[in-house]
Amino acid sequence: MLPVFDAHIHYSQPDWEAVPPARVLAIFDQAGVRRALVSSTPDDGTLKLYEAAPQRIVPVLRPYRSREDMANWHSDPAVQTYLETRLTRGLYKGIGEFHLAATHVEAPVVQRCAELAVQHGLFLHAHVDDVTVEKLLQRYPQVRILWAHAGMSASAAVVGQLLERFSPLWVELSLRTDVAPGGTLDPAWQAVFVRYPDRFLVGTDTWVTSRWDQVVTGMHFVRGWLGQLPRDVAEQIAYRNGERLLGSP
Ligand SMILES: [Zn+2]
Repeated sequence: MLPVFDAHIHYSQPDWEAVPPARVLAIFDQAGVRRALVSSTPDDGTLKLYEAAPQRIVPVLRPYRSREDMANWHSDPAVQTYLETRLTRGLYKGIGEFHLAATHVEAPVVQRCAELAVQHGLFLHAHVDDVTVEKLLQRYPQVRILWAHAGMSASAAVVGQLLERFSPLWVELSLRTDVAPGGTLDPAWQAVFVRYPDRFLVGTDTWVTSRWDQVVTGMHFVRGWLGQLPRDVAEQIAYRNGERLLGSP
């Protein structure tokens, strides 16, 4: 089974009792997930998983102390303090996953996150649309951005154009079942994967507890379309790009 680096896992408060760390690791084993990029609301969930399996968990610091922070994190000084304090642990490889509208690209906490990313060599995991990701890449050209869900609805052509223009852009494909409708790899996506094989990652997105039941089937679906690509392209997208973006354990 092709090992997978899952670039979009959350382990937020409702998950902690329902899916204890040992169960998470058993799910990863069954799904063939070798390592996972994890962020959580609040961040303590990420630390719980990291303690259970430091070789397998890549901690990413989410700017949400609770779900209420989703709307205004970009301009809340208390969120900035939370991030700065937690980053002193030196564990994290990125900041995110966060949501942001194009109008807030220059908000104070976003600017500070970009500074911290440069200072600590972190990437930003951004759940934003194509207009906003372009603004982020233009405004903060030194910062690597992992684009969650490829913008959720951006077409393969738009994704390809952005990858061509912006070398710090990486794209993660969680929830994008349109990559392979009915299991057959879409020709437009296939073309962009073959053209930029070193810029894509796959992921699940356990944004609610019920998603933990779908990690295994989701990765089965992903392996199905990866298997329709040349082996070296499939291996890069499955896990080699994750190791390159984040470093080996
Ligand atoms: Zn997410």
